[in-house]
Amino acid sequence: MTILDGKALSKKIRDKVKNDVETLQHNNITPGLAVILVGNDPASSAYVKMKSKACKEAGIYSIVHEMPSSINQENILEIIDLMNKNQNIDGILVQLPLPEHIDTTVILEAIDPTKDVDGFHPYNVGRVVAGLDSFIPATPYGVMELLKEYDIDPKGKDVCVVGASNIVGKPMATLLLNANATVDICHIYTKDLKEHTLKADIICVGVGVVNLIKEDMVKDDVIIIDIGINRIEDGSLVGDVDFKNVSSKCSYITPVPGGVGPMTIAMLLKNTIKSAKNRKGI
Ligand code: NAD
Repeated sequence: MTILDGKALSKKIRDKVKNDVETLQHNNITPGLAVILVGNDPASSAYVKMKSKACKEAGIYSIVHEMPSSINQENILEIIDLMNKNQNIDGILVQLPLPEHIDTTVILEAIDPTKDVDGFHPYNVGRVVAGLDSFIPATPYGVMELLKEYDIDPKGKDVCVVGASNIVGKPMATLLLNANATVDICHIYTKDLKEHTLKADIICVGVGVVNLIKEDMVKDDVIIIDIGINRIEDGSLVGDVDFKNVSSKCSYITPVPGGVGPMTIAMLLKNTIKSAKNRKGI
């Protein structure tokens, strides 16, 4: 069994991003990322802090617009409009989830698609589906990079994607399909999850349920990508896979933490550089 080391690969990518930023700075270009954080959900605040820190380390200018959960939709749209027009900002991301009284679709559609470094605007979603150049959502993009790093080619493989959200499961399935895998997508209403996971050469799971994938649900030598992040009672982080009992059956598996998580931040930085270069015609 080989561990897919997202921590090591993300460091490589972040070092490359840092070099790219230095080159851009020689041409008087500093890439900029604006993050909008609404409310005080501890997990969201922690993710935003990690993103800001990563930007700082890479030399990317970043600004966080923090707003109370009581804010109205119009005020968020005003900030997005300002960021769309701000020439120092190349990437805009809205930390999800938003409070219930805010329409997430309206907010995401207000972001200039050329600055949509999270790749959640329907324009970029469509381009990814069509296999065109686009901003690829950071988490599934990170998974594809991790597979590439370990010479795992999804072409012709039976892949089971568990979880079908717009930010994880759907783009994950799309990228794997574009890479010529045969993709099975499962979700909360799937009748018999085990029936699907058992025949998969690769399982990508991003659900948010501790120990969802158990030993008897996977075949020998399976490759497992665990995207789930769950905080358990003792305060530690675990994924969606019963790692202790499943890992010995795998040919490759991502750990949690240290697998997909660090890749997500690295790919966000990469998307921000891509935007800066695109916008400056480089
Ligand atoms: P979500 O709640 O939007 O979607 C969850 C998906 O899982 C849905 O499609 C739902 O149908 C499916 N699901 C729920 N229970 C299920 C079950 N018992 N069996 C099969 N499918 C089931 O969540 P999300 O935003 O897509 O996040 C999913 C997980 O990925 C969470 O744990 C989240 O923390 C994690 N995540 C990790 C990263 C990362 O960088 N590693 C990034 C984003 C999200």
